Amino acid sequence: VKKVFSGIQPTGDLHIGNYLGAIRRWVDLQNDENDVTYCIVDLHSITLPQNPLELRNNSLRICASLLACGIDPNKSTLFLQSSIKEHSELCWILGCITTMARLTHLPQYKDKSAAMKEIPLGLYLYPVLQAADIMLYKATHVPVGEDQLQHLQLALSLTKLFNHRFGKTFPMCQAMVAEDASCRIKSLRDPSKKMSKSDPDPKSCVMITDTPEVIKGKVKKAITDCTSEVTFDPLTRPGVANLLTMHSMVSGKSVQSICDEVKDVDTGKYKLIVADALIEHINPIRIKIEDYLKNPDHLCNILNQGSDKAREVAEKTINEVKIKVGLGNFR
Ligand code: ATP
Ligand code: MG
Repeated sequence: VKKVFSGIQPTGDLHIGNYLGAIRRWVDLQNDENDVTYCIVDLHSITLPQNPLELRNNSLRICASLLACGIDPNKSTLFLQSSIKEHSELCWILGCITTMARLTHLPQYKDKSAAMKEIPLGLYLYPVLQAADIMLYKATHVPVGEDQLQHLQLALSLTKLFNHRFGKTFPMCQAMVAEDASCRIKSLRDPSKKMSKSDPDPKSCVMITDTPEVIKGKVKKAITDCTSEVTFDPLTRPGVANLLTMHSMVSGKSVQSICDEVKDVDTGKYKLIVADALIEHINPIRIKIEDYLKNPDHLCNILNQGSDKAREVAEKTINEVKIKVGLGNFR
């Protein structure tokens, strides 16, 4: 039995990259009878300016989306990060053993702060909070996309550092990243970038809440190149390779067999085929999401029950940590 932890930000609906790179594997891990904890990490979502009403609403939308994708609250612990205060508490303690030099070069911080004049401290601290999320539940396995590997590396060094200074407390955690390209789905508008919820251009992402018409429109406008054949060359033809990756992942066919099937089709027509394959896979999920969203009370109940389960573990860990560090509890 693996102790699995993973999180997703409620910065917007899920895109196909989140789904293929992370959520689909969350479902598999849950069904393999592991001890799984999945968190909607809303504290992470305030590292960039947020609209309060939108954030709250997005948390429920993500909850609906996770359920629609197959997360089962009876087989997993599904909860909202901000309802467990221990995440912030452990983050502070870990922040005190992290050096600033260690955080400066992390790619997500560099990407997200690049265009900013005034960089929020929280954006800098983000990976430390992420380490706290994982360590609080003593997770051993963390399913994520490739973009999170360096953050996981930090969590691992903080684990070692804490254990070394204060005595063995946390297990080593390891990232579980898919071995194929599903762990790094690219933006439809710029295949040198990853697909991101927070990308300001809505045409860069296929959302799992997009209607068939919207998906068709976005895929038709996907950036490819001047060659008209469909070939899989991620380095020289990243746009076409990205379409093939998504197509292969939702259809279960290999990239090679798709290339053989469409050898007489140009990339323009191929986009329509990709759009259809995505729609066939996503549309049933979108319909389920809409159903879940009709009953927000039910979603709140699920999250509250999840929080109750998560809190039991979190409180236990933080008490242990405080004693080891020399904090609190003089009663
Ligand atoms: P944001 O822009 O708000 O950071 P995001 O799209 O990066 O949103 P996250 O909530 O940060 O999504 O990440 C959720 C999970 O999805 C993580 O495990 C992350 O590694 C994975 N993921 C994110 N983007 C991709 C992608 N383009 N391809 C594959 N996996 C991805
Ligand atoms: Mg992200």
